[in-house]
Amino acid sequence: MADVPAKKLRTCIGCSQKRPKAQLARIIATPEGNLRWDRGGKAPGRGAYVCSAACLRRAAGKSQLARALRRPVPEGAATAIADELENAPQCAEAR
Ligand SMILES: [Zn+2]
Repeated sequence: MADVPAKKLRTCIGCSQKRPKAQLARIIATPEGNLRWDRGGKAPGRGAYVCSAACLRRAAGKSQLARALRRPVPEGAATAIADELENAPQCAEAR
């Protein structure tokens, strides 16, 4: 199955902007109830998309993240992922 990022639009749960999937970070909930940044975008399970660390923080603060993932999200977990996004070079242009 070929990935065609330019045509796959996803909505950022922080700012509600639609963007190509390639410009978004996919966050998934692990079975343990934690969060993980799915860098490859291919992990199984329900995912939520954010365009920046700021949007992830905003979404977590408004419970958007928990709603998108359909499970409670520990707030510290979202912050940790946001830090990870901020420190990731490939997300610099999306900010
Ligand atoms: Zn956003």
